[in-house]
Amino acid sequence: MELILILGPMKSGKSFELISYSMPLQYADISFKVFQSAKNVRDESVWSRNGVSLQAKKVSNLSEAMEGGLKVVGIDEIHMFEESDADIIEGLLKKGTKVVASGLDTDYRGEMFPIIKKLLSMGPKEVEYKRAVCEICKTPDAVYTQIYKNGEPVLEGLPSIVPEDGSYVYKPVCRKCFLKRTR
Ligand SMILES: [Zn+2]
Repeated sequence: MELILILGPMKSGKSFELISYSMPLQYADISFKVFQSAKNVRDESVWSRNGVSLQAKKVSNLSEAMEGGLKVVGIDEIHMFEESDADIIEGLLKKGTKVVASGLDTDYRGEMFPIIKKLLSMGPKEVEYKRAVCEICKTPDAVYTQIYKNGEPVLEGLPSIVPEDGSYVYKPVCRKCFLKRTR
């Protein structure tokens, strides 16, 4: 079945979009489940900044999504999953399951996450690119997520999934304000 991707920086309304896709299914006779990475220690459910939330199952990989004959599988923070989880998603699509996944497309260096590259190569039916407001210049064109530590942008040396230990601040920024390591 089809793959729908909702991609964009922090604070671009991705989770709200995922919730909007999934909410009506709760009232329909369609089996669905939403998954979240166990690496996400911050959230207990999929939530959006406008206050709505959705129950999600925390998993370390997506193999559980293959169980129980689900018709629709939602995935929050898809970038937190391993590249190999894209193969499970491919298996779901072949089985006739619809997959709706939301997450960041690029990491703190502005580089695309391997799993996102793989999903884009699988021919998604829709790719919805969300934008956020740039926290530096306030234009509504933020496409990147810059990570700050002690007020300074961190340009290298972090794992692509940055630990949520409270010492890093995430800000959506536009192309002009995004700082990249110069090679
Ligand atoms: Zn800007």
